[in-house]
Amino acid sequence: MKTEKSLLILFLFVASNGYAQIRFGDWFEKKSLRVDFALSGDSERQQAALQQMREEPAWGGPVKNLIDTFYYGGYYVNLYDKAGKQLIYSRGFNTLFEEWRSTEQAKRETQSWTNSVSVPFPKKETVLEITGRDRSDMQFHTLMTLDIDPSSIFIDRGKLNDNAVTQIQYKGDPASKVDLVFIAEGYTAREEKKFEADAGRFAESLFNTPPFDARRNDFNVWAVALASGESGTDVSGKGVFKNTALNAGYYTFGVSRYLTTPDMKSIRNAVWNVPCDAIFILVNTDMYGGGGMYNFYAMGTSDNARTPVVFVHEFGHSFAGLADEYFSSEVAYDEAFYNLEKEPWEPNITTLVDFGSKWQDLLPAHTPIPTPLNDEWKDKPGVYEGGGYLPKGIYRPMDHCMMRDYAPFCPACSRAILRMVDFLTDRAY
Ligand SMILES: [Zn+2]
Repeated sequence: MKTEKSLLILFLFVASNGYAQIRFGDWFEKKSLRVDFALSGDSERQQAALQQMREEPAWGGPVKNLIDTFYYGGYYVNLYDKAGKQLIYSRGFNTLFEEWRSTEQAKRETQSWTNSVSVPFPKKETVLEITGRDRSDMQFHTLMTLDIDPSSIFIDRGKLNDNAVTQIQYKGDPASKVDLVFIAEGYTAREEKKFEADAGRFAESLFNTPPFDARRNDFNVWAVALASGESGTDVSGKGVFKNTALNAGYYTFGVSRYLTTPDMKSIRNAVWNVPCDAIFILVNTDMYGGGGMYNFYAMGTSDNARTPVVFVHEFGHSFAGLADEYFSSEVAYDEAFYNLEKEPWEPNITTLVDFGSKWQDLLPAHTPIPTPLNDEWKDKPGVYEGGGYLPKGIYRPMDHCMMRDYAPFCPACSRAILRMVDFLTDRAY
């Protein structure tokens, strides 16, 4: 009897925190509210401030999985009812600004970067909150709250440029598919056909890679042929600067092969009328390089021989929140990038502080933790030291993986990818 009562209490607790009762149609219209905001600060502190809000015509995200319980990323956007009590939508994300905060430069100067989130468009007055994760406790703390009135005159409802949008692959209603959007960067108007062919080629390389191969039918793929004034991209370390639509460039944080753009506003402007769960920016150059941040964007180049596999690696970051499993290459971060006293949030690395929350259930019986890199174990899932840019103190799930050296995705990464596909296609995850 006592057990039954405990179970009932437990059930009520789960029901009230399980978020299953939030019905999309009660709270939202199938449009987006885009919120652009500045993140500013340095290595020690950061703050957020509103820049603009826009009503945009498409919503490609889930309509059932409205609460994101992965807890990935350095930030969360949360929507609450008017009283600020009931959570009705949430989603984690990362930013390039958060990476910049780990650089030497951020110890000496302050910067301000534009960021942007899109949430389903509320029907009623709601409260929007942006939280940031503090590396010292790994918890999310409030950076900004806004009262949202969906009829407000301060929400821009205007159209933006009608770029040429092509369906590379259409498998069904965007609410129940992952909508992957390629955006052209450094392609002139005359190179539109090249961009569409390049985007199709990269979609194929993704769908030929396990575990994405088994989930091809869960993806819609779109291509936005944004026209740039010049071909190519900035290579600032070599004095090359091009007039391009998204202002991308190499030498991010001084790293020659690190290709990104801080221009989030132009990226969101490019996809204003396209259902969008994941963005891949395709840069028209044959140089090696790329970058990807969780639920932000990934970037790669069109014509380098290694690009198809670099694309899949970067997409692993941006789509599934996967960490780099390598630890010996040139990186811009000092040791502060991961706090070794805490468990990192990424699903494919561990500090062993809370390994039970990671891939322990995927290990063969009697696997030693940490796992020695010898003939008996080296080809099996384990807990191998080295990962997340550090040779000591961080552990990876297999010796080799797409997130280390472009080998097939390890079991921990594969599971994280499949869970994200399930989340974005409104399945149980
Ligand atoms: Zn992996």
